[in-house]
Amino acid sequence: MTLEVIPLGGFSEIGRNCVAIKVDDEVVICDMGLMLDKYIEITEGQEDKSNISAKQLIRHGAAPDTNLLGELRKHVVAIAITHGHLDHVGALPFLANRFDADIHAAPFTAQVIEQLTNRDRMPLRNRVITHPSNGRFRLTRNIELEFVHMTHSIPDTVCIVVHSKYGSVIYINDFKFDRTPTLGPKTNIRRLQQLKGIKCLIIDSLYAHKTEKTPSEKIAEDMLFDEVLNMDTKGRTMVITTFSSHIARLRSIVKLGKKLGRKVVFLGRSIDKYATSAELAKIHNFKPDVKMIAYREKIGRFLEKEKDLSKYLLVVTGHQGEPKAVLSRIIDEGYLKLKQDDIVIFSSKVIPAGDNEKNMEKLMQKLKSRKVRILTDIHVSGHGAREDHRDLLQMLRPEHVIPTHGGIRQLDSFKQLAVKELGYSPKKVHILYNGQRLRLA
Ligand SMILES: [Zn+2]
Repeated sequence: MTLEVIPLGGFSEIGRNCVAIKVDDEVVICDMGLMLDKYIEITEGQEDKSNISAKQLIRHGAAPDTNLLGELRKHVVAIAITHGHLDHVGALPFLANRFDADIHAAPFTAQVIEQLTNRDRMPLRNRVITHPSNGRFRLTRNIELEFVHMTHSIPDTVCIVVHSKYGSVIYINDFKFDRTPTLGPKTNIRRLQQLKGIKCLIIDSLYAHKTEKTPSEKIAEDMLFDEVLNMDTKGRTMVITTFSSHIARLRSIVKLGKKLGRKVVFLGRSIDKYATSAELAKIHNFKPDVKMIAYREKIGRFLEKEKDLSKYLLVVTGHQGEPKAVLSRIIDEGYLKLKQDDIVIFSSKVIPAGDNEKNMEKLMQKLKSRKVRILTDIHVSGHGAREDHRDLLQMLRPEHVIPTHGGIRQLDSFKQLAVKELGYSPKKVHILYNGQRLRLA
């Protein structure tokens, strides 16, 4: 009889988050994400993903290695998903069919799963069961699952609590503490404080090396208004790019459009998918305020036909300079003719992974050669930092801690905090690799 943590992806690396928690002979899988840069290497240019195999993705390190479960594969009783970012949910369409288990998710995440599977013609045989972002439900005789609402950069993010007779395992990946979120509730701190008997905490440590507390999303909204409304925008073409899944930020952008007296237009499939998910999950309906154009040909036609783009605030994908995303493409293909003093806003930060920095440099050169005004880094992260980690550890006081969602630098910083400052024994703070099982009871 055992309680065990089995890392399948995202341990001592950043991406393809996935972990199995074994309670006696039953297994719960938390998250099933993609390693995005490796996934893009495989899928580059392919609209139809249905011919890509799980085997291929696993071999390339683009998806979690669920083969590490061996015979335990047959004992999976649930797949629970924390939130709708692709590094947490993106491998579901390829891997979930391997398991005879239901998928459990909060409403917005369930809609994202629907978009990634049925709408993309990648049907699942698993049922998707929706639960509120705060709630507890019995899974089997021995296991109860609980969702606790966390703030992050996408709606309906939860942490997953696996309750068992050995104590609970809490999986918090990703999170921040936002006291003034611009959309949705705050982190359910009261419930976190009530949780007792925590055997193990598995936690997002992406910014463990940053000696700060991550500011609220409200700050990002204020920055956006402050910087943009202080510019001379009259008669200029204005383009803004951000994370497609960041519904709160997209809503701030719509507010900005209203303040500027411009009609907001969302361009690109990925923004359309997430905006549709938000509408169907009753999180926010963009339709009354926004014109949405998802497909490539229609985007081209709209930009060519429209004589006066200064009526609009154009919202596009491509904040990491990705050559195939809308921003780079409409510039390269000549649909968007930017002139001196037109404005391009990056409500994002460059993520130092894959080719992002190189791609951004190229995009910046193109923009600068057109003498465009550029605003970058109008952004606040969705991940907590060292001081958030300290608060969380002190609140929960788990017996064991497993930092995840980080490279060696981040994981080590997290361990230093727990051991040197919070009195943890080094034997109780575990830096694990994929496949390295940890027995807790
Ligand atoms: Zn995330």
